[in-house]
Amino acid sequence: MKIVLAKTMGYCGGVSRALDLAEEAIAYATEHALPVYSLGKLIHNPQVIASLAERGMSIIEHPEGYEPGVLVVRAHGISDMLRKEFIDAGFLLFDATCPVVRHNLSNIAHWAKTRPILIIGHKGHPEVLAMQGVHVGGKPIKSFLITNAEETSSLIDRPYAVFVQTTFDQVLLEEIRGSLEAFHHVVYVNEICPSSISRRMAALDLARQCDAALVIGGKQSANTKALAELVSNEGKKAYHIEDSTEIPVEAFSYGTLGILAGASTPSSIIEEVVQTLQRSKT
Ligand code: SF4
Repeated sequence: MKIVLAKTMGYCGGVSRALDLAEEAIAYATEHALPVYSLGKLIHNPQVIASLAERGMSIIEHPEGYEPGVLVVRAHGISDMLRKEFIDAGFLLFDATCPVVRHNLSNIAHWAKTRPILIIGHKGHPEVLAMQGVHVGGKPIKSFLITNAEETSSLIDRPYAVFVQTTFDQVLLEEIRGSLEAFHHVVYVNEICPSSISRRMAALDLARQCDAALVIGGKQSANTKALAELVSNEGKKAYHIEDSTEIPVEAFSYGTLGILAGASTPSSIIEEVVQTLQRSKT
């Protein structure tokens, strides 16, 4: 069996930055004898979350009921209202909102003054919640959320400014864009994540070279799911696994097996998967 690795995989800049900031937050909290929290899971990787938990970082969603301390805001961002709630409750925020996401959030605030905002993304995804939770002049913006092409039929034709969740499935996005072609004066203004694009290009390239692929990443990771989908759409079998213990037996039956990983997969887990495959080959 030949193993081929995707040219781009593993941590993106936003995730690396969030983990660096988490280290700083833990050090600061330890020095000042404060509790340390992350807003939701910092990244979609159970092993990394467990390691942060061992070092005292708890996951919370709201300030109520928790002793004020240091809060790390993940790369997905935070709604303006929730940010205010944490600050008012006495929390110190270490803000790891990815610059790409931050740019989109400030653009939403700008465009919401003149156009209705249409968000394309997964309902309840933290980045989408941050997008929906932008405030202008102290008040929440009015926005519309679309999760698939069918839902566009419920929209009134208005000059929407469209923003897309950075890790949204590209095939689904193209379907939605097709449905929106009947609408007038729609503008797509969101920042595109260069890391997601190069990751997808690498996944496409890999899918064309292999018979099947292992896609490594958290089961909740939207970008990992999107990579697996992309490989499947190329007609190749994609196995979404979290670590080497989940390598399926049939993976060894392929002539060429591709390996790719989501933006929140540590290199140690990727290496472990590759080493397990190589050990089993001999
Ligand atoms: S995938 Fe892109 S937008 Fe999302 S955190 Fe990483 S660099 Fe930022």
